Amino acid sequence: MDSTPTRPAQVAVCPSAGIGHLTPFLRLASMLTSNSCSVTLIIIRPTLSFAEANQINTFLSTHPHITASEFHILPCEPSSNSNIQDPFLLQYDAVSRSAHLLVHHLATLSPPPSAVFSDLMFASGINKPLYDLGIPNYNVITSSARFFSFMTSLTHLRVTRGDDVVIPGLAPIVGDDIPPIFSNTDHMFTRLIETSCRYLQDAKGIVLNSFDFFEPESISALQNGKVLAGLPSVFPVGPFIPYGSINGDNIPWLDNQPSKSVVYVSFGSKTVMSKDQIREIGDGLERSGLRFLWVIKTTVVDKEDKEELRDLLSEAFFENTKERGLILREWVNQEKILAHPAIGGFLTHCGWNSVMEAAQRGIPLLAWPLHGDQRVNAGEVEKAGLGIWERSWGWIGERLVKGDEIAMKIQEMMTSEKLRASATRVWDEATKAWEKNGSSRKMFETIIGDKVST
Ligand code: UDP
Ligand code: UDP
Repeated sequence: MDSTPTRPAQVAVCPSAGIGHLTPFLRLASMLTSNSCSVTLIIIRPTLSFAEANQINTFLSTHPHITASEFHILPCEPSSNSNIQDPFLLQYDAVSRSAHLLVHHLATLSPPPSAVFSDLMFASGINKPLYDLGIPNYNVITSSARFFSFMTSLTHLRVTRGDDVVIPGLAPIVGDDIPPIFSNTDHMFTRLIETSCRYLQDAKGIVLNSFDFFEPESISALQNGKVLAGLPSVFPVGPFIPYGSINGDNIPWLDNQPSKSVVYVSFGSKTVMSKDQIREIGDGLERSGLRFLWVIKTTVVDKEDKEELRDLLSEAFFENTKERGLILREWVNQEKILAHPAIGGFLTHCGWNSVMEAAQRGIPLLAWPLHGDQRVNAGEVEKAGLGIWERSWGWIGERLVKGDEIAMKIQEMMTSEKLRASATRVWDEATKAWEKNGSSRKMFETIIGDKVST
């Protein structure tokens, strides 16, 4: 037997901007470090939100073995993207334009990385140079396998608004579920995704935060080369394992609620509902008669969330729900909330991280996808048996969803035995995926094995 000690792999982990992209990378960094890799976390500066800055600080303080390396991106350019308001989109654009500089940055690390895990937004700038340097680079996908399949298809097919998209090996993607911007080939985000996907062939592998049971069709179509010829190996290693962040206060109110009785309501880190829609959600929660924990956000970026609750919701609402509802305005520790025995269901926008976190706990979902990849994700939630979805609610702002509709669907989510049983099955399968010989564990070990032996 070879007695040479194996050197730990020197891994650089490179997240893009926004919590939805940061969180899965922090989890991956923690998973790699627990498997004897020596990890450098690349930190994008400037950070857009307080939530990201806090998340990074907490992570580094609880992972002293991980080295941080700051990478300053080029400034956002609102002027050349004059019709784009979304600060996250502008930040993605800046990240992508800065990607070539990341190659130089990685070269300055000491010791140099023997493998890289990078966000898709970097692909156009780093995949080819890292390939030429012989450094294995894994592109990590922060959305569902199905939405990823759609994104890769932008390299060779044109999206016409409203039309279904046919991808080999997959049930057609319904036109209504495709974000309208993708039918505009000149849109910065459409170009960014299309260009990034063209460079996937130069990656060593593609890492998905999904698992075989949850998305069997898309995963197998991707792995069998049906979706896009020339893709490197695809590794579904989800749900990514939480790193046990215990930041965020306990919520004593939750401790006093009966088991599985509380509806948790949150639409992620950056989605803001109109005031009218917030009032209707309040009305729905009030009419449902159920207990609820509702996180309300009124600004896209979390720097000035000052809207007074009393201006949003009526006195009667507060009076009628004071015994059974709690509203929070601040950043919450969602991971911890979903793990709490009092939580019985989750009204969610279907951001992919939220979906995987719910899968890990078997929490039934009421999907209310609002934009981006979320309708496609909601379809996967429904197919896997984790949740229900009322398609007629449309994209955000398309129509005002009324309180009585919301109340009815929440009640369905909380009372359906069938849904609870199928969500529990998802939980079992998510757990199995990470047990010995489980699908995700085996895939992760393959990646680690490939790297450690380099
Ligand atoms: N999250 C949280 N507290 C909040 C809001 C969000 O912990 O108050 C976490 C949530 O658990 C998830 C991530 O932030 O890990 C949001 O990612 P997701 O993909 O669900 O949605 P996005 O925010 O990207 O729309
Ligand atoms: N987005 C948008 N309109 C769309 C699709 C996406 O404004 O039709 C924005 C969305 O708000 C988000 C960004 O594009 O900030 C990325 O979208 P997506 O949800 O697909 O990616 P994610 O951030 O969840 O990875």
